[in-house]
Amino acid sequence: MAKDKKVIVVGAGLVGSLLACYLGRRGYSVDLYERRPDPRSADVERGRSINLALSERGLDALRRIDLVDSVMAPALPMHGRMIHGIDGTTTFQSYSAGGDRAINSISRSLLNETLIDAAEATPGVSIHFNARLASYDLASNTLTFQTAGVTESRVADIVLATDGFGSIVRQELQSAGRVSVVTDRLDFGYKELTIPPKDGEFALDPDALHIWPRGASMMIALPNPDRTFTCTLFWPKTGDDGFDALSSEQQILEHFGRVYADAVPLMPTLVEDYQYNPVGLLATIHSDPWQVDGKVALVGDAAHAILPFFGQGAMCGFEDVVELDRCLAEVDDDWTLALPMYQERRRHNAEAIAQLAKENFVEMRDKVNSKLFLATKQFEHTLEKLLPGTYLSRYEMVSFTTIPYAEVVERSRKQQRLLAVAAGGAVLAVAAAATALIRKASGADD
Ligand SMILES: Cc1cc2nc3c(=O)[nH]c(=O)nc-3n(C[C@H](O)[C@H](O)[C@H](O)COP(=O)(O)OP(=O)(O)OC[C@H]3O[C@@H](n4cnc5c(N)ncnc54)[C@H](O)[C@@H]3O)c2cc1C
Repeated sequence: MAKDKKVIVVGAGLVGSLLACYLGRRGYSVDLYERRPDPRSADVERGRSINLALSERGLDALRRIDLVDSVMAPALPMHGRMIHGIDGTTTFQSYSAGGDRAINSISRSLLNETLIDAAEATPGVSIHFNARLASYDLASNTLTFQTAGVTESRVADIVLATDGFGSIVRQELQSAGRVSVVTDRLDFGYKELTIPPKDGEFALDPDALHIWPRGASMMIALPNPDRTFTCTLFWPKTGDDGFDALSSEQQILEHFGRVYADAVPLMPTLVEDYQYNPVGLLATIHSDPWQVDGKVALVGDAAHAILPFFGQGAMCGFEDVVELDRCLAEVDDDWTLALPMYQERRRHNAEAIAQLAKENFVEMRDKVNSKLFLATKQFEHTLEKLLPGTYLSRYEMVSFTTIPYAEVVERSRKQQRLLAVAAGGAVLAVAAAATALIRKASGADD
């Protein structure tokens, strides 16, 4: 019986805890190991991204196991972007043609805790906290964990690695020559700052994702249920505009006063936050293959960490879980078939969103500020209204549907080509009409 197989999931982050829920529901006995203490009784690490944008792909995964209501209860919908110009002006850009669709700001730790609660409540799932995977041996499928100074080895039938960006399982598979990994590091890092409530209320409009696009860098802010905003700086690590360039109180206040002037009065702890919060790294991980011998697979960031500029990293990991569950269902839980099938269906999609996320950085930090960008967005919304379900903007497809990412890329390329042809046709038609008018006025046609 396939369901007698002993499954070990490494990493009880967002993806691992969701995966344990799905596998438990399929009838598996699952051991979920996590190096950190139980987050429900421990403090959140300072500087780890505090909130996340949750959109349709994640909601779909949660809906399938009846978790959407509990996750969404504290969520804050954001119906568009609020662009903060350097002169302090603000412009709202709706995410959808009808203005009705929203992405949702949720607390990362609350989401993780809800998923851990759900995993714990699922029959067959056992969670082990404070258990750090120290090594993994592929030949024997043996995992060695360190728990409070004690070393414990466990042999599994199936190992699913959801141990994130720095995955030990992935590193071990790479060392064994079975997985090749390319890490594409960005010269930018991120740092989080806070905007507290003002007179007990949100200091900015909570219905928007706020962006201060500044060409080579940017700051964004997402609302939290406690009426604070978490701001994230995405800056070069070094150079004149980089994190390294500012350290003293005077430098920090002078720079922010010049570049984010409207935000400074809202940030009483700016200097302290800037000086003490760490700079996080940003990179894309491309790994291939994602599974070896039908007995070990990489899932979520362990397989494909991406840049955060489309708000899709966790969403993509949640889709991995749904797909893996679907593959198991299709092949009667034969893991030797299901794992290659999962990889085949997901890998190119993860590559597609990795590329889109990279491109979206330029859009967010630079293009959103331009009149051409605004006009294009408005034109796209008009097309979406005129051709409902036929024309869908790239943002709409990524955030508000579950159309596979690779198909999104293909479809938006086709749409761009059609738009270019239509625009070319419109220019030709205008030119022809103008020529006819000029000829008529000059009597050339008489
Ligand atoms: C600044 C920023 C903003 C982001 N915003 C968004 C967003 O808006 N929307 C979105 O969808 N995504 C967003 N992401 C991406 C998202 O955070 C990740 O894609 C997501 O957390 C991946 O989940 P995961 O479970 O695969 O990995 P992780 O969340 O990294 O979880 C891995 C887990 O494994 C554990 N672990 C690691 N090593 C070991 C070990 N050796 N032994 C045992 N346990 C181990 C870790 O402690 C952790 O709990 C953002 C990322 C960043 C950096």
